[in-house]
Amino acid sequence: MQYLLKYKYSLHFFSISILALTLIPIILITVNEKQTPDTHVSSVFYVIPLGTTGGLDEDNISSYLLTSVNDNNPNSTYIALDGGTIRHGIEIAIQHKSLPSNTDKETFIREQIKAYLISHGHLDHNSGFILNTPNDKSGKFIIGLNETINIIRQSYFNNLAWADFGSTGLKTYDYQILDPLSTTSVPIANTDFNVRIFRLCHTCPYLSSAFLISRRYQPAASILYLGDTGPDDVEKIIQPDNTTYSPRYLSQLWKAMAPLVSADELKAIFIEVSFPNERPDHLLFGHLTPNWLLKELNVLRTYHSMEKVKIIVTHIKPEKGAREKIIEQLSSGDASYFTFIFPQQAPPVLHASYIPPIQPTVSTPLPKVQLGNLVLLETTDNGLLALSLSNVKSIRGVSLKTIYQRKIFKNCLSIEYKNESGSNDTGLMKYLTFGITWAPSYNLVLLSSEDPSIKRLRLSSKAVILNDIENMNVDNLFCIVGFPNVSKFASVVDPIISGEDVKAFLDRLKQCEVESSRSHHYGNANIMSNSVMMQQAVMPISSTGNNGPSDSQQDSGVDDLHLYEFKNVLLQKKERLMLPIFDIEIPYKDVYHCKIDATRTENIFYGHDEKKDFEEVWHSVEFENISNFVWTTAPIVITKGQLEQQFIGQDKLTYTLKGSTTFVNLTKALDVRVQLDEKVTVTNSKQFTLFRVHYQTDQIDGKILVMNYKSEEVVVVITATLMGKMNNYSIAPKKDAVKADNNVANQRHDIQWEVNIKPKQTLEIKYVRSFNKRV
Ligand SMILES: [Zn+2]
Ligand SMILES: [Zn+2]
Repeated sequence: MQYLLKYKYSLHFFSISILALTLIPIILITVNEKQTPDTHVSSVFYVIPLGTTGGLDEDNISSYLLTSVNDNNPNSTYIALDGGTIRHGIEIAIQHKSLPSNTDKETFIREQIKAYLISHGHLDHNSGFILNTPNDKSGKFIIGLNETINIIRQSYFNNLAWADFGSTGLKTYDYQILDPLSTTSVPIANTDFNVRIFRLCHTCPYLSSAFLISRRYQPAASILYLGDTGPDDVEKIIQPDNTTYSPRYLSQLWKAMAPLVSADELKAIFIEVSFPNERPDHLLFGHLTPNWLLKELNVLRTYHSMEKVKIIVTHIKPEKGAREKIIEQLSSGDASYFTFIFPQQAPPVLHASYIPPIQPTVSTPLPKVQLGNLVLLETTDNGLLALSLSNVKSIRGVSLKTIYQRKIFKNCLSIEYKNESGSNDTGLMKYLTFGITWAPSYNLVLLSSEDPSIKRLRLSSKAVILNDIENMNVDNLFCIVGFPNVSKFASVVDPIISGEDVKAFLDRLKQCEVESSRSHHYGNANIMSNSVMMQQAVMPISSTGNNGPSDSQQDSGVDDLHLYEFKNVLLQKKERLMLPIFDIEIPYKDVYHCKIDATRTENIFYGHDEKKDFEEVWHSVEFENISNFVWTTAPIVITKGQLEQQFIGQDKLTYTLKGSTTFVNLTKALDVRVQLDEKVTVTNSKQFTLFRVHYQTDQIDGKILVMNYKSEEVVVVITATLMGKMNNYSIAPKKDAVKADNNVANQRHDIQWEVNIKPKQTLEIKYVRSFNKRV
């Protein structure tokens, strides 16, 4: 792992021995599935307002429960849109019979609220959910913009304002960051909802957001929930040169909503009106009045009539008479083009009919992360960074002069850097480290289809970032697939910077040669043995406000690396963070795979092992990487069916280049069988000697029986590794890679046959093999 980092002068290095990372589990989110809507199920949503006002009244501040299942089902799953008032809102909802009278609010919060979608970081949208965290259940996602999630983690769950209940702390919550530039929706784990996020300005440049929520299997119906927002005409950023810039996020949002309104797919818009019209624009503080709301809604109305979209007015500030005034101001003039609803705590806004609840998602452990020797770097703010000393590439600054001394303590190496230039210049330090890594995880859903000839699957990938170094704000996080060039000279500091004389510099280079040749074998073996280690991350980090020398361009294109890039990511120490990589729908082929083990064959053959009747055959799916990414080795969970609830299997997706074909195993096949039968027919009496070993050649007749007991034609792929010289194939192999080594008596064939077998038929593959056996 390699990243760039700008640091203040004065650095201290300490080395420590092996640091072990514990096993970190990952959560796999169910993936998106496109299906034709089930016409039997109503496509409305059920909303319970837990809190409806904008601030002041702590018993009644922004939070709306959303479900697609009606209230009579005790297993229905809810998501919370903002989390201002939670517990009290649920009490009121029970009193008003919006929830069954026997609802236990404790259990309800723990078990039935599956995710918190938070529009922005203000307390009136977070306080209830934060206060209820100590008793909450783990495994839920807090969902929002990166900016919002950062506020929740840094300002609330920081062990100062409130205990850290995040994934690094007491492990209650996980965070799902949504990309406002993405044009597709992503699933919300443990629910049948999908969500897409949009940015809003709430006193520019402070961001709020809107959530577009649909049901995964009925994407034709959505609701739009907006957090606090000011009007486009008021929300401006004054730039350093005194010009103003208006992001106009609302107009972008309306543009995106227009097709949904035209198609009658947008059922409701939750939007704020905080103050009556009397409020002057300069005192809006990122909010709307009835006039501003009408102005904004009229923008959307220019695209299509709005009569079928319910406008749910939220966030009215509980000032005396404000609610009545706003209701009145939204009842004349242009207001007649719209249907307004003024929700109150508890009574449901919309009703829905029953659809079956979904199963929880599956979680799976990651492969163990191994770490080598690490060096801890003490930073100027008393933080610690872990890196491998041999991987420090250089320390540079424009006018930064440093001296350093290497001191060996008991088991601790320290290098002290001092800034002797008298300037406050920022240095740029570049180094490689294993303290941070990432691992992908895949989810594969076999999509159901009415036409059996159309087979499609949905593959989604997430990057899980494991950070063992320190809390970091990363502007650009690159997750790499491939092997970066970790130079054996990485530990040598440029003599111009280090102040070393030429002789010392040359000595250090020589030392590296020796060390690298010594560690070569072990180092490689270590990398090869751990798939996680193959995934590296490169992060150019810039600490805010520092304009140090930049050479972040330098590394691009150096290696044949494939990058997944994420912008502006907050990484906290000891935390796992999940970021979306891709979500694609692709065709697949059902294939039966059989791998014939050559060594076992030899053993059976010469009486060292018992003969097995049948080889292992796996039903697998074969598909091509048509994504823009290289697929890296990682666990994959396979599900299928309505609501993706049917777990099929878990396998490993192996490294697959763009355009290559890969497969994953689903189940062991019992009705497709493969049997290998080999017999020695002739033994050549002539002996020969190779490297003082005597050999005799056996002529072997081989026969592979492939039996299809199924009532449909199947494709069977047989991979066999056979030693010796191969002749007389009855069916030509699709691949036959020969590995001949002068030192060995037999060449090695990696053979692959691909055969189609009709229902209830048996196919025979024959060959002749000349094998040199030791005598
Ligand atoms: Zn608010
Ligand atoms: Zn706010």
